[in-house]
Amino acid sequence: MLELSDIEAWRSFASEQRSKGRRVGLVPTMGALHEGHVSLFRAARETSDVVLATIFVNPRQFQDSSDLDSYPRTPDRDRELALACGVDCLISPTLEAMWPDFPAPTPTTVTLGQLGEVFEGAGRPGHFDGVASVVAKLFVITGACRAYFGEKDFQQLTVIRRLVRDLGFDVEVVAQPIVRDDDGLALSSRNVLLSPDGHRQALGFSRALRRVAKEPRSADAQRETLRGVLEGAGVEVAYAEVVDPLTLVPSRDGEAGERRALVAGFVEGVRLLDNGPVQLVGR
Ligand code: AMP
Repeated sequence: MLELSDIEAWRSFASEQRSKGRRVGLVPTMGALHEGHVSLFRAARETSDVVLATIFVNPRQFQDSSDLDSYPRTPDRDRELALACGVDCLISPTLEAMWPDFPAPTPTTVTLGQLGEVFEGAGRPGHFDGVASVVAKLFVITGACRAYFGEKDFQQLTVIRRLVRDLGFDVEVVAQPIVRDDDGLALSSRNVLLSPDGHRQALGFSRALRRVAKEPRSADAQRETLRGVLEGAGVEVAYAEVVDPLTLVPSRDGEAGERRALVAGFVEGVRLLDNGPVQLVGR
């Protein structure tokens, strides 16, 4: 496995692969790798010819410096896991290379408007602008590729699809389903910050999603169920919504069909999020 940190070496590696007729697969991550990331590596291994993975804890998508400082970092384990999953090139760009002006913002940046201001973006101004800006830079450096993202971060996936469409990147976005532990908790690098009690409380997320997936009801009734199960589990709810999966516009009561339930909240001060399909019936 080739390991790179230099942007020019990364750009030339990707373009050399394409010149040999190989299809480049890109898996962007923030490290602290787990089975969720592994599922993206596997998908890339199966459907692309050469797999590039990036590890960069992007400070521009953290609003809170203590959240950034406490974000888990496990570089040695990440290297082993990437190697075991058949990653061909592991790229860990430096902060100076990605954001040379940091902590000052770069003058050129991607802004999203409304889509970046709701849900994960509400109360975290600039979060999705930071995500979209870093992903745009990864896409520009890598060039034409397939890029693999998890449905775990559903809003992020929506933002990235929009980014590709609006700015015309030569990138095919491939979405992978959420990987969960045996209890149902969606895998997240942040889960290591939970105590065993916190882990039990966090199971409220998947329990709430299972409830609304099982029984078709009205949008308002599903929202109430989500919130009720989460609060009952002791989660400090940030939001519990039912939305159109393509636009993230909240569903009106009386709409029918398959929508997406988005849930987020705090357990022991750790921000967790999850999502899943939900069936709506008109009243
Ligand atoms: P992160 O390192 O948290 O930025 O995540 C990198 C990529 O892995 C993103 O596309 C995430 O959506 C994806 N991912 C994280 N957790 C999971 C999971 N439990 N299942 C599937 N994909 C995941």
